[in-house]
Formats: sequence, C-alpha cells, structure tokens
Amino acid sequence: MISEDVANQLLAPTGRTLTTAQALVRAHRSDSSAPASGFDVPTTVRMSVSLTPVHDVDAMNVVGVLRSPDPNNAARAVLVGGHLDGVGTDPNGAVFQAANDNASGPSVTIEVARALAASRSSLNHSIVFVAFAGEEEGFYGSEAYIAQMAVAPGRVESLVAVLNLDVIGCCSDTLIVSSEAPDLQRRVLDAASGLGVSAEATGSGGSDQTSFARRRVPAVLIGTRDYILHVYADKPAVVEESRLKKAGDVVTQVAKDLATAP
Ligand SMILES: [Zn+2]
Repeated sequence: MISEDVANQLLAPTGRTLTTAQALVRAHRSDSSAPASGFDVPTTVRMSVSLTPVHDVDAMNVVGVLRSPDPNNAARAVLVGGHLDGVGTDPNGAVFQAANDNASGPSVTIEVARALAASRSSLNHSIVFVAFAGEEEGFYGSEAYIAQMAVAPGRVESLVAVLNLDVIGCCSDTLIVSSEAPDLQRRVLDAASGLGVSAEATGSGGSDQTSFARRRVPAVLIGTRDYILHVYADKPAVVEESRLKKAGDVVTQVAKDLATAP
C-alpha cells in the first residue's frame, strides 16, 4: 500500500494523477467502449521491505445459528458473515487496527443477528451467522467452514444464500454488491434502493464469498465503494456508524426475505 502522494509522484511522468487514473477506470467500468484504463508508466521503483518468517498459528471461526421453528425447512439456511481477522502487525510489532477491514463486517453481523432474532417465529429457513478467521491469508476460515461444518442447517449444501460483509464502515455512502450471483446481487440492490440506500454493482472476488461461489452457493460481497484497508490509518475513527446502519438495514431485510420465502 502506498500513499496518494507517492502514487502521484510515480504517475507524474504520465501527466496523470491518482484521481484522473481512477476516473479513467470508472468511466471504462460503466461504459466498456470508453478508452482503456491501462497506460504505461515510465517509472522505475526500487524498494526494500522487512519480512518476518512464516509460522503456523491457530485460528477459529465463530458460528451462531438462529434456527427456524418450521421443522420442514429449518435444515436450509441463509448465511450472514464477515471475516474477523486483520493484517496483524508490521515487522516492528505495530498493530494494524483493521477497524474497517474488517471489524466492520462482524460487528454488523452481530447487529443483524440481534435484529433477526426478534423475527425468529416468522422464519421458514434458519440463519447462520459466521465470523471467519484467516481471510487475509487466503480464505482459510471460509474454506475450513466448508470442509468441516457437517450439520444442517449450516453445511454448504444447506445454504440458500451467503451475504458476506467486508469493508462496510468507510469511506463512501454507496454500497457495492459483487457479481458472483446475479439474482442475489439484484435482490440486494433492489432492497437497498427500497430503503433509500445508494448501492451499485461491482465485480467478483476479493473475500470469503468466493469460497461459497466456487461450490455454486449464491454468494455476494457487500462492502462500500471507496474503502480503506491494510494501512495504519484503518482505525475506529474512520468507521461511521451511519454507514454500518445502512449496510445492516439492507442485510437484515435481504436475509429476512430469503429466510421467510417458502
Ligand atoms: Zn477484508
């Protein structure tokens, strides 16, 4: 990760800045006939990075189940979750606080669980809440969940949808919804628009929903458009409660709709 100042210094020979480069990317994303967003940068960078040795650590997922009272349908479930790990410490031991990436995800998951617990009697399907470990190192927690969760509701074959919350506290009021499952993506975008929350479609990948999409479970990432992650500045002060609430309202509604469907 580099600062905007450094990025602008690297881009200077091209006559562009980070802002104009971002504008190119956005224009190309919304209209594929717009000029390509890639360009050559005649800059050579030499850098040194301190590394720490690789070592094994123990980590755990945290799983909660809100069981539907309907005995015929309770074995199927909607999964709501977000990863609980951050990027740890730098080689000098300074902690990356990881407030937006991704304390924001599990904290909204907990609130969604609290809100949905009040509607338990109306649920046809169960709802599983998960805080995944080991996302940053390569989706280890979600892969372990899929490999080891043996009971229904919960195991991957029982899941009707996965709503994965990642980077939802900063830095834009527009939610992004990933594209692995177009019907689910549309459902989330529609729910947002019904609640007056700005939201837009984005590409695929980048977080734990990928593990479920690979097993053909409809799964999307819900985040915010402009985010901060993996830097010292990702501290609690950058996370805004109003953004968490918007994401939480949308996720609560979508999870409830899916879980009350026949
Ligand atoms: Zn993340």
